[in-house]
Amino acid sequence: MTDPVLDIRGLNKSFGALRASQDIDLTLHPGEIHALIGPNGAGKSTLIQQIAGGLRPDSGQVIFDGRDVTGLSTAARARLGMGRTFQISALAMDYTVLQNAVLGALGARGGVYRFFRPVMRDADLLARARAALDTVGLTEFQALRTSELSHGQRRQLEVAVALTLSPRVFLMDEPMAGLGADGSRRLMEMLDDLRAQAPILLIEHDMDAVFALADRISVLVYGQIVATGTVDEIRANAEVRTAYLGE
Ligand code: ADP
Ligand code: MG
Repeated sequence: MTDPVLDIRGLNKSFGALRASQDIDLTLHPGEIHALIGPNGAGKSTLIQQIAGGLRPDSGQVIFDGRDVTGLSTAARARLGMGRTFQISALAMDYTVLQNAVLGALGARGGVYRFFRPVMRDADLLARARAALDTVGLTEFQALRTSELSHGQRRQLEVAVALTLSPRVFLMDEPMAGLGADGSRRLMEMLDDLRAQAPILLIEHDMDAVFALADRISVLVYGQIVATGTVDEIRANAEVRTAYLGE
């Protein structure tokens, strides 16, 4: 197999007596969607935050493109191509769709701005922003205020913002949360296409979506990965069925 883009080795993280991550090993390979499932409080978000740099592990390593990034900041990891979808609040609701995408592209360049006008005339930033909006299907909405978008469209914009940094991986924590059937389906189609551009580590509660999209699934229970396998392997795993799928 090809080298993993993301290689998590022996990650441990405790909050007081609570072991939220216990000796976590996990890989993400080019072209794949690796889903991370598990009950509430299992440690899924804690794990993704350690990968993205928002939380420092107690021990273990995060290897990204062959490089140990465990000590790097979130911003430094983002500049290396670690893309993630943020909570909705990361978008500026009063700004237009295009402006949010341009700000994303600016951030990807490591830039800050004092005056907004010159930023919106920067041809390179505009090109990146427009390409990202095109990928997620928001081109026709680019002049709308972000507050005018539906919940699902905002999720798509979050992905577009992440795309402006030409990510090498995508980390997504419950991107379908709160979406209706239509929004979920559209986002699933998008993720299905995106995996070719950058592999995706996907935390998702919607099992239909996970079973439809994932190349591999890891099951996290009380901070431990109890199983990793293909959709068929995970569905057939007795421990997983009782521990998580409730069968
Ligand atoms: P999941 O995303 O799988 O629902 P989390 O990673 O959010 O789970 O949380 C895992 C466990 O760690 C939970 O018991 C949660 O209460 C605890 N936890 C998460 N973040 C913190 C924190 N900053 N301080 C203390 N406990 C935390
Ligand atoms: Mg969570």
